Order: sequence, then structure tokens, then C-alpha cells
Amino acid sequence: MEQEDRFRNIISHCKEYGFIFQSSEIYDGLSAVYDYGGYGTELKNNIRSYWWKAMVQYRENIVGIDSAIFMHPTIWKASGHVDAFNDPLIDNKDSKKRYRADTLIEDYLAKQDDKIEKEVEKAKKRFGEKFDEPLFRATNARILEIKNKADAVSERFKKAMNENDLAALKGIIEDCEIVCPISGSRNWTDVRQFNLMFSTGMGAMEENANTLYLRPETAQGIFVNFLNVQKTSRMKIPFGIAQTGKAFRNEIVARQFIFRMREFEQMEMQFFVQPGSELEWYNYWKEKRLAWHHTLGFPKENYRFKDHAKLAHYANAACDIEFAFPFGFKELEGIHSRTDFDLKSHEKFSGKKIQYFDPELNSSYIPYVVETSIGLDRMFLAVISQSLVNEKLDDGTDRDVLKFPPFLAPVKAAILPLVKKDGLPEMAMEIFHRLKFMVYCQYDEKDSIGKRYRRQDAIGTPWCITVDHQSLQDKTVTVRDRDTMKQERVAIAEIERIVMEKVDVIPALKRL
Ligand code: ATP
Repeated sequence: MEQEDRFRNIISHCKEYGFIFQSSEIYDGLSAVYDYGGYGTELKNNIRSYWWKAMVQYRENIVGIDSAIFMHPTIWKASGHVDAFNDPLIDNKDSKKRYRADTLIEDYLAKQDDKIEKEVEKAKKRFGEKFDEPLFRATNARILEIKNKADAVSERFKKAMNENDLAALKGIIEDCEIVCPISGSRNWTDVRQFNLMFSTGMGAMEENANTLYLRPETAQGIFVNFLNVQKTSRMKIPFGIAQTGKAFRNEIVARQFIFRMREFEQMEMQFFVQPGSELEWYNYWKEKRLAWHHTLGFPKENYRFKDHAKLAHYANAACDIEFAFPFGFKELEGIHSRTDFDLKSHEKFSGKKIQYFDPELNSSYIPYVVETSIGLDRMFLAVISQSLVNEKLDDGTDRDVLKFPPFLAPVKAAILPLVKKDGLPEMAMEIFHRLKFMVYCQYDEKDSIGKRYRRQDAIGTPWCITVDHQSLQDKTVTVRDRDTMKQERVAIAEIERIVMEKVDVIPALKRL
């Protein structure tokens, strides 16, 4: 299936099965803002909870907090967001569409990589067994030509971004003959800076209102609480503070469903370390976060690290964990060595000392920080796009099935009476009322059993438990496995154990 069709399928599946709706849909929607439906909310909660367990509960040196969205406006001056939280934007004069200049160039560079891969694929087919891929990559004239050109563009791009040189960005777009995907034309405006923060007013009277910003990241709520948390939790460096919560960015281009939203949720952790040890910890967290993703069991080749072309004003090392989304490899999570920039700056702007006395060194200092930052909605998109499969079955039919890791599945078990009579519904209800104390489960008696199985497959329920006439006699039921569709007859007394074993998150946590 073409990438675009696959992505469209995922979006319509999300809507049809109650995972995600366009916000304000009956008013024709609000751009890049989404609501989560019943199953979507369960899935989102499960992903958040898995992150929280791995990052807070499972670790003795990370404290979880929940800071407010509204914060003192000076915080955003201190953090650099008022002056530097900008994206370079460019408009196409023919289509009137707006783009991020950096994204246009990144997409151009990704296309050059694709071209190289296509050349390699072609050669692989041509040469068969004898094909020496490394040699081909190193010597083929066509590949070298593409690569050298792309490397030169990449260098210019890095320099332009680091120097905030907007004219140079436009120059790259022109020289690479990048066209607008809508109009196909190269009729571009100049590149301008655009601040991504939303502002609002606090106070009864608009005129005396204080301008507030909706936080564009949750991290600052952690920095300004550093001493509060350190003292009250009696943590010693190295230690971390984590939180999940909403963030807001007035994104210029927001066309990829929940990949880029204007209101979204982040899961962030700031790890405070001794100055000088930050790069060691940066590597440590790179490895740990990738391991967290791998525990979900999706193919490992769908993840890769990418170093940032431009380091943010606060960072001395930064990379992304990229994921193979239906529209290509894109950032899923960022890992940043933020130095002491934020704490130092808050010390300066607030006039309050933000130092840590290190008993090991017998001296005080401003800690350095390594951050891990992942978008919950982006993680949701990664999970759902990886899990949705259309399977052809032996009988010629097909089924849509969401092969979620069981501990993330919104509904863990469905309890289904084979027919709506003969005491089967009552018996099924009894099982439902026992299981509901442990996991989110569903009772369903509507439609044929085949249709009910399909419905549960489409929302990713790992277990379907069917009560039939034999159940009345010998107190057994069938349990159907979502992925293999195999059914096994088991004693009702065993059901809790069987369901719990499969949906347990502990084995995944132990692999971290
Ligand atoms: P991008 O380059 O895609 O704009 P970023 O580098 O600005 O992302 P960070 O500031 O590092 O992103 O934010 C950390 C994480 O928050 C990202 O890895 C992503 O998962 C998530 N995130 C950022 N912006 C958005 C958004 N507009 N919608 C959904 N998730 C987002």
C-alpha cells in the first residue's frame, strides 16, 4: 500500500473506532487540535503510565511532579523562549501555503537519501549474489554525485541555522530548486522568523492584564522547582525530576494529524548531574530511552538516532530518536544535554540562588542537566501506526487488527456470551464483574460472535472470552488470542491468571 494510503487508513481507523476525533468537529474543526475518544484515551493513559512506571516508579532517583501550565512571564524571558523560540517560515506566493524553511530543506535532504537507497536496490537486483554493497556505495559515480551534493547542502544548512541566517536559508531553497508541493512553483517569499508561543492575559481587566504564555514545554516547570523538589525529596545528585503535561505551540505547518499539534502532551525528565559528567549521562540516557522503545517489540530497524544539525541555544549535545512513521523517519523523542543554561538563567532573572551543595565534592554548584523529552501524542501515533495491520485470512476475507503490545491495549479482555439467552449473558456478566477490578474489560452481546471478534480485533483487545453452552455444564470458557485467532478452552477459575499474565507490564519493565 502506498505510504499516503496507509496514513489515510490509520487516520480513518482512529476516527471510526473512537480513538481520535478532530477538535470542534461540528464547527468544521480547529486546525491541528485533536480530541481523544474512549479507546484513544485508554491507549494514551496506558502509554503515559508505561512511561511513568519506567521513568519514575521504577527508579529510585527520579521524582515525579505536576507543575502548572501558567507560569510567571519572566520564566520565558529567562529560558530564552521569548527571544529565540522561533521557526523560520516561508510562503509560496502561488499556493499561498506556508512552510517551515528548515523542514523544506530537511525533506529535500531526505529525498537525496532515498535516491541513494534506490540506486543501491537497483544494483542489488542487477548483481544478485555477487553484490558488494559497501564497495558500491563507496565507488558508484551516481551515488557519489548525489552524496557530495547533499553533504554540501547539509553543511550550508547547518551553518545557516546556527547563524540564524534567513537569507542563506532562502538561498539554499532556491539553489536546490525546491518547489511547493501544492503549486509546484518556486515562487517563494523571503524567510521570516515566527515565535511559536501562544499568549493570553491574566487578571480581571484586559487593560491591566499581565501577558502570560501557554507553556511551550513542560521542562521549565521542573527547573523552577529544582530546589523545592531536591530539598523535599532529599535527593542527591545525580537525580531527576519528571512530569507529563500539556504544552502549546503555534506551529506554522500542522498537517500531519497528531504528529504536529498546536496543543499536545509531553513526557519530560530532567536529570541533574555534576558539571563535567553531562556527556556521560547523555549517552546513558540515549541508551536507556532507546531500550524503552525497544521493549514494545516493534522492529528495531524502525528506530534510529539523529544528531541535531543545529544545537538549541541551551544545548552542548542533542539528538533525536527517530521513528519510521507512515510518512518516513521523523523525530519521536529528543535527548538533550542542556548544560546549566536554564538554572543559571533562572538564578539571574529571579535573583534567587539556585545551587546544590554536593557533599561528595564539599562545594556548591549549579547542576548540569540532561533532558529526555517525548511527545505523548507522537508516541501514540507511533504505536497505532505500527500496530494497525490488515490481514488476509484463509477463508478469503480480511480483518483490520491492532496488534498493540498487550499492556498498552485499551481493552484487555472482552467477555462475550455466544448467544443472548439460556443464562449465558448472566454467566458472562459474572466474569466481567470479576475481571473489571483488575483490568479495563468489556461485555458485548450484540451481533454475531464473528462480528464481535472483528470489533475487538479492530480496537486491539488481546483476549476474547466466550461463554457458550458447555460453560454452563463444566464451568469452562474459550479464550481467543487476538494475534493467532486460536481458541483454547480453559476453566473459568483460571481466567484472571491467564488474562493478567498476558497483559502484565512487569516483564517489559524488567527488560529495561
Ligand atoms: P520538531 O523538530 O518536530 O518541531 P522539536 O525538536 O521542536 O520538534 P522538542 O522541543 O524537542 O521538539 O520537543 C520534544 C518532543 O515533544 C518532540 O520529540 C515531540 O515528540 C514532541 N513535540 C514537539 N512539538 C510537538 C507538536 N507540535 N505536536 C506533537 N508533539 C510535539
